[in-house]
Amino acid sequence: MKTHARVVIIGGGIAGCSALYHLVKLGWTDVVLVERNELTAGSTWHAAGNTPHFEVSLNMTRIQKYSTELYGRLEAETGQATGFHKVGSIRIAQDKDRLEQFRILESQAKNIGLPFHVIGPDEIKKHMPIVALDGVIAGAYTSEDGYVDPSSCTQAMAKGARDGGAQIYRKTRVIGTTQKPDGSWIVETDKGTIACEIVVNAAGTWARDVAKLAGLDLPIVSMEHQYLVTEALDEVKALGRELPLLRDPDASFYLRQEGMGILYGPYEADGKPWAVDGIPEQFGQDLLPNDLDRIEYIVEMATKRVPILAKAGIKRTVNGPIPHTPDGGPLIGPAPGLRNYWCLNGFSVGIAQGGGAGKALAEWIVEGEPPMEMFEFDPRRFGPYATLDFTVDRACEIYKYMYAIWYPNDEKPAGRPAKTTPIYERLKTAGAVFEARFGWERAAWFAPHGNTHETPSYRRAESFPHVAAECRAVRERAGLLDLSGFSKFEITGPGALAALDRLCANRPPQKDGAIALTQLLTPKGKIETEATLVRWSAERFYAMTAAVAQLHDLDWLQRHLPADGRVHLADVTLRDGCLILAGPKSRDILSKLTRTDLSNARFPWLAAREIEVAGVPVRALRCNYVGELGWELHHNFVHQTRLYDALMAAGAPMDLAHFGTRAMNSMRLEKAYRAWGTELTAETDPYEAGLERLVKSEGRDFIGKAALEAARAKGHKWRLAILKVDAPDADAPTNAPVFANGAYAGVVSSGGYGHTVGTSIALAFVMPPHDKVGTTLEVDILGERRKAVVVADALYDPENRRPRM
Ligand SMILES: Cc1cc2nc3c(=O)[nH]c(=O)nc-3n(C[C@H](O)[C@H](O)[C@H](O)COP(=O)(O)OP(=O)(O)OC[C@H]3O[C@@H](n4cnc5c(N)ncnc54)[C@H](O)[C@@H]3O)c2cc1C
Repeated sequence: MKTHARVVIIGGGIAGCSALYHLVKLGWTDVVLVERNELTAGSTWHAAGNTPHFEVSLNMTRIQKYSTELYGRLEAETGQATGFHKVGSIRIAQDKDRLEQFRILESQAKNIGLPFHVIGPDEIKKHMPIVALDGVIAGAYTSEDGYVDPSSCTQAMAKGARDGGAQIYRKTRVIGTTQKPDGSWIVETDKGTIACEIVVNAAGTWARDVAKLAGLDLPIVSMEHQYLVTEALDEVKALGRELPLLRDPDASFYLRQEGMGILYGPYEADGKPWAVDGIPEQFGQDLLPNDLDRIEYIVEMATKRVPILAKAGIKRTVNGPIPHTPDGGPLIGPAPGLRNYWCLNGFSVGIAQGGGAGKALAEWIVEGEPPMEMFEFDPRRFGPYATLDFTVDRACEIYKYMYAIWYPNDEKPAGRPAKTTPIYERLKTAGAVFEARFGWERAAWFAPHGNTHETPSYRRAESFPHVAAECRAVRERAGLLDLSGFSKFEITGPGALAALDRLCANRPPQKDGAIALTQLLTPKGKIETEATLVRWSAERFYAMTAAVAQLHDLDWLQRHLPADGRVHLADVTLRDGCLILAGPKSRDILSKLTRTDLSNARFPWLAAREIEVAGVPVRALRCNYVGELGWELHHNFVHQTRLYDALMAAGAPMDLAHFGTRAMNSMRLEKAYRAWGTELTAETDPYEAGLERLVKSEGRDFIGKAALEAARAKGHKWRLAILKVDAPDADAPTNAPVFANGAYAGVVSSGGYGHTVGTSIALAFVMPPHDKVGTTLEVDILGERRKAVVVADALYDPENRRPRM
């Protein structure tokens, strides 16, 4: 056994073997995989092997598309069969909403050239003669997917990796992982010790236990999942060809041909978490006892949908553990707070995702930054709020709603509330309808008469007029929003200014008490994050970033601020709250509560002051994300109720209103303010995002500058355009494709309704020359092409007078 390797991968399931294979392909051959049992002995060997392309997330579809392409060619490359059957699949719709979901995904698929067609009942019958079409109005047909033999497929990647020089140690169990002061690792196994630069945890169901060896807490629990395989059926034999897969999302099952029989698997409503308190020591290449009672009601529905199941004898039943994270997505990327430790685990659909996920991780390790936007898979998207209980609750919910539509306006209840601010109950009493981000409960909108019900929908729903009223209040009077979830950092010390100058594409504020908005770039010039930076003094800065990015940004700052003792970083997210007071009356309201002169002369736009408001120490920042006169009032949480009560009382005579994040989003679209995660991603740079005014290159050298300038010189594929969209009752969803003269021309990053300007708005990356002002384009919204015109600037207050009022 080797005693040194560049990378040690723990776990020889489909994920680990894929990472090994792709590292070797990238030229990293000094790599080792350690498997406690035989390869595939975890969840992989008994998986049904389905490899679908029907995914709500476009990025995940990209990953799964690559997987099937790989599985289709691996045999030719390695000589090892993968058992890939490209039979396609059909998902059926029985109502209008499901059909709308199909239409959205059919449109979205155009971004990546993925065949995806909505077909009618007759065509479904042609593909799938054994299905009863009662109630069926349409189907989503994805011709490129199918199923593999998961074991063979994994072995093919293992063979490819071995052929390229990688080592695989079977029957070798990892019992310890210890980090050395230089950041490298010692991986201890029951057969010996391997020193390595990088550890990859690909231990599937055991990933949480393996992570604990490094002091890491991963939010993963396994859910039991069962499927049944029937005896051969004459009707199947008589077909003389192989059936596509079938998914009936209302009955919540998948089904495919297995030999001359049928394999089908239900996702039941009362799913069962497995081994929450620890995986039994002796559990290895094992199955769990069947519990068919739990799935009987779905078996009955499946039998109605595919009547030949009624007479089919059951040949085999399988029950095995499937790892689940709190949002159902895998953990792919750096572990929070640990250097050189990577996650490739938490897969609930790991056969479909394994190929692409292993490639993405390998590229991220080798290149030092992700090959595509990966935050939705990033292990750092969860924080300490994602406890074991939280994870169990969420995993059960995810399992139950495996095939349900997750509407954009529907916030599911499991595990909530995880994090609340001191004024949570007050906001609730005021009618707040909450959404959860990074565990934080924050008001999405306010129901004025206590009726908080909203129909889950892709279209504008009950909240629409109330959000309009909130926007009106902010634009005409004043509004208050609790945005305490912001990630907040203090960067202090004699080296702080120079360090930030190196990290930020924009120049850090030059004067004390000034604010600057800046992107932080990767070495390749892509956007790592965006921060609002406040300078209290040359040695004391305050940075705010997106709530969900707390661990992600903390990691970036920790890794890139110099460790010379001259710069200190503190994460003060849980110390400070933030109330936003915005609108033309906000100065009048705030003046009542402070002795500080709030005039433009003494407290101009983009200034920050440490002041007293209602007897509370407040760091007041004159900026906001809605484009009005206003202040962000940062304060210690212990003072929040007092501050809030005083603001509400002072604002009452001026009709101060609450507003939520939906109103904020409407107003930021009117101002064409970009958002991290949609416009600002690992795949875009500030020039593409139309933010050249925030790049200050002259006389400076910051991370990513050289690559950014090189990309600019070369010319970008597309640029962000502001579109006025003709959309009567639904706005453009993220990833809706954009067309020019019928041909693909770009993609929407954000869409929504501008309540003040009275039009639907989209921000979209559009290829030149179609990004020219005045160009008429089309945007696909719920399957219909809607007219969209490129406008020159923000639709609201393009001269930016309002924030400077
Ligand atoms: C019944 C069932 C049907 C499924 N059907 C599908 C499907 O149709 N399509 C699909 O995409 N997904 C399906 N899945 C999910 C899929 O099986 C998993 O997502 C996938 O196999 C996970 O692969 P993995 O490599 O992450 O984990 P695993 O396959 O579990 O591999 C982890 C490996 O780590 C090893 N290991 C653990 N601890 C240590 C240690 N300390 N030292 C060394 N090695 C260690 C284990 O022995 C194991 O081999 C199904 C799952 C089940 C249970």
